[in-house]
Formats: sequence, C-alpha cells, structure tokens
Amino acid sequence: MTEWLKSVEPLTLKGQIAVPYTWWVGETGGRFMAALRDHRKILGTKCSSCKTVYVPARKSCGRCFIDMEEWVDIADEGVIQAYTIVHYGHPVQPAKPPFAYALIRLDGADVGFLHVIKKDLDRIKNGLRVKAKFRAERTGTILDIDSFELM
Ligand SMILES: [Zn+2]
Repeated sequence: MTEWLKSVEPLTLKGQIAVPYTWWVGETGGRFMAALRDHRKILGTKCSSCKTVYVPARKSCGRCFIDMEEWVDIADEGVIQAYTIVHYGHPVQPAKPPFAYALIRLDGADVGFLHVIKKDLDRIKNGLRVKAKFRAERTGTILDIDSFELM
C-alpha cells in the first residue's frame, strides 16, 4: 500500500448516475437493425474461411480475424442453450422482472443470440424451442424483437 494511503480513512459514497448515450452501430450493425425494423428479419454473417455464421451479424470473424462479406438469413426460431431468470428490477434492464436472459441458438446460426424471454418462466429449460415475437412498432434496435416465446 502506498504510504500516504495508510493515514486515509476508507470512506465510500453511494449514489447512482444515469449515462445516456447515442452509439453508431456501424455499417454491419445498421444493416442488421434495419432488417429487424423493416422486414422482421434476422440476418447473420458467414465467415468465408471457417464457415461460422454469426448472429447478430458482425463485421469480422472472431476466430479468423477476417472481414465477412456473406449475409445469411437466420430463422426467427431456435433452441435455448442457457438462461438466467432475473427478479431484480433496474432501469437499464430491457424488461420488467421477472424475465429471463436467454442464450438462444437460432436455426442457421453457429453462435448463441442473447435476448429475453418474458413468459412461461416456470417451464423454461435448456433445449426448449423458442420463437421471436417482434414489436408492432419497430425503431431499429435489438428490442424490435420484443422477446422470445416458448413454442
Ligand atoms: Zn472464420
């Protein structure tokens, strides 16, 4: 420990801050979000080298470190790979608790897609199939998919 810290009483201050921001999602993110908003379509990108299909679409392959040019349609259905049920409410969460964050392997993708499940939480388990429920009013965000529902 630094010498001058030895004479300092460790006081803390509790508080909350809100940090609103606007973030440009980029060329790839923009195309992905626009497809959700305008066509209720989920798009992925496929690596030309390792053939991995990513969703949400991303610019470069995390394994091969090369840019991906091939866009693929991904199903709006898939399988729950993992989940956790949230009981604690907080303004930054995308839904009112209880709800579940779920990692969903959408048909046609090779990686998990993180989203929320709001209903039937008493029946949720890994391996169950789910389907995307799109919002009627879409604005170009990941929450244009309101949630996934058990099939
Ligand atoms: Zn790759």
